[in-house]
Amino acid sequence: LKSAFLANMSHEIRTPLNAIVGFSDVISTTYDELSEEERADFVRLISINSEHLVRLIDDILDLSKIESNTIKFTFTDCSLRSLMIDVEKEQTMKPISEIEIKASLPNEDVYINTDITRLKQVICNFINNARKFTEKGYIHFGYTVDSIHADSVHVFVEDTGSGIPQECQKEIFDRFYKVDTFKQGTGLGLSICKTIAEHLQGEISVTSKPGKGSCFTVTLPLDIKIND
Ligand code: ADP
Repeated sequence: LKSAFLANMSHEIRTPLNAIVGFSDVISTTYDELSEEERADFVRLISINSEHLVRLIDDILDLSKIESNTIKFTFTDCSLRSLMIDVEKEQTMKPISEIEIKASLPNEDVYINTDITRLKQVICNFINNARKFTEKGYIHFGYTVDSIHADSVHVFVEDTGSGIPQECQKEIFDRFYKVDTFKQGTGLGLSICKTIAEHLQGEISVTSKPGKGSCFTVTLPLDIKIND
């Protein structure tokens, strides 16, 4: 597993790095010959690939913190509505044609005691996966409160993407697992999300239908008040 991971990693690091080096080189050597649009397009590609590389390195650092048991959590009371609005603002700055990305929120705000940065990391990871595996339709995210017991809140990200075959739905939370090994990715994201969810006293789950889409959920205990 380790050598397969390392082989895949060097590919995962090289691809965005080559794009960053290549496009910067083109801009610096042929600056005057390029049109405004070409320059803007190359800068956009450099930015996308840099973001991808940062995410990759963050995942590896998180994995090493998990391995050495030094991952830290800071719990505070926080508003889920504000969190979702923040995430929506960030996501709408990176629109994708043919996909609607938006928060789908109930009227009530919900306050929970959690590590907000880590919870946001889980939601953004779900959304980034949804962006990767969805070609058209929507990506909706939000939260719902358990109406029967009202003792837990479900934070979800739903997409109309490729979906995941039933027989793979357990394994996707395992370290290094990818349904399609040719697709971009290290197979680390969901295993990190699972560890984070456990530290937040929560649970992670998925429902998915191939060809229809997926819904990833992290269920967290709700022992705090609900405000209008
Ligand atoms: P990575 O995306 O880096 O490969 P993850 O651990 O985040 O790693 O995901 C593991 C695998 O789960 C992905 O490679 C993909 O096969 C599947 N997967 C995750 N999210 C989705 C989604 N929203 N739609 C379809 N497949 C998904």
